[in-house]
Amino acid sequence: MEEVKCYLPKTLKEALEIKAQVDVLPLAGGSDLMVSHKRTLGLTPVFEKPVMIIRNLPELKGIYLNEKGECCIGAGCTSAEIAENTLCPWHLRQAASRMGAIGLRNSATIAGNLANASPKGDTPGPLYLLDARVRLSSVRGDREVLVSDFIVKYRTIDLLPDELITQIIVPLSEDDFDYIFWHKVGTRKANAISKITLSQAIRFASDGKTVEDFRLSATSTGSKTNRSRDVEKLLIGREITDETIESVVEGFDRIISPRAMPEFRREATRRMIRRFLSEAAKKPSSKVIDTYDGYHMTGAPVPRGEENG
Ligand SMILES: Cc1cc2nc3c(=O)[nH]c(=O)nc-3n(C[C@H](O)[C@H](O)[C@H](O)COP(=O)(O)OP(=O)(O)OC[C@H]3O[C@@H](n4cnc5c(N)ncnc54)[C@H](O)[C@@H]3O)c2cc1C
Repeated sequence: MEEVKCYLPKTLKEALEIKAQVDVLPLAGGSDLMVSHKRTLGLTPVFEKPVMIIRNLPELKGIYLNEKGECCIGAGCTSAEIAENTLCPWHLRQAASRMGAIGLRNSATIAGNLANASPKGDTPGPLYLLDARVRLSSVRGDREVLVSDFIVKYRTIDLLPDELITQIIVPLSEDDFDYIFWHKVGTRKANAISKITLSQAIRFASDGKTVEDFRLSATSTGSKTNRSRDVEKLLIGREITDETIESVVEGFDRIISPRAMPEFRREATRRMIRRFLSEAAKKPSSKVIDTYDGYHMTGAPVPRGEENG
């Protein structure tokens, strides 16, 4: 049987000291690492370097609001913990509650999802939308970077060899917007890797018509999550009309990767943007607009609520 050398630090300080001295692979929930290192049935995974198990570090747990009202989420919080915690922003709770299936959600951590840097990962979409930052810690100290900068490109992150992700800080929440939208298009209700996931949010000025803020991010639309302030600005300061909706649809269409986006995904994206904005313009009583009527991957319309079934 192959041996896997493991470090089991009891505190974050100990973990950072190990990270500063040894080239170790941090293992949190293990849901990505155990799959990427798996071998044939019955054989233990082979790791190219020692593993440092960090899933039980108390400093990486906990969710609280800081003095600025920002939501601070421990890097080791699982999808289940995030989905259930109402301090976490709505968009992020939606994404966390639809990751994998129940078993996975009890082990997969938010830091693991970000470090994995998959364009199909579910948590980056809401985190891009809400200007979230990651805190990176080492024995040298801490630094913070926007999640959208931390994920540099496909499977590439801005993490130095002696650093660990220790916290995710989300400055905005649903309270900052009048209407919100999140929808994951997948092939099943559980264990469905995203075909495309859209997060949207809008706030109107005091006249009730002019758009004061609008945000739109999408996963599975390129080598990393897509969000463009330039596209969002096509609506900010304007009213929602057929013309401004189409300018956003066309603007977003241009930034998403042609390679990652066959026509059915592109069309689903357009429909979700149009639906959100046209519904928001009608000022419905419900803050949550998720009335996308769904498309199976064949393009055939399906009844509402069954689009991921
Ligand atoms: C069956 C199945 C279904 C899945 N479904 C989904 C899905 O629907 N949506 C989705 O987004 N993902 C999905 N995934 C992918 C995976 O579960 C997530 O990416 C998960 O969040 C990874 O977290 P983890 O704690 O398990 O990471 P691990 O496997 O422990 O680690 C992943 C990477 O992150 C690094 N890492 C972990 N924590 C830290 C830290 N604190 N600091 C620095 N580096 C760190 C590790 O070194 C490794 O490189 C699925 C995986 C499986 C096996």
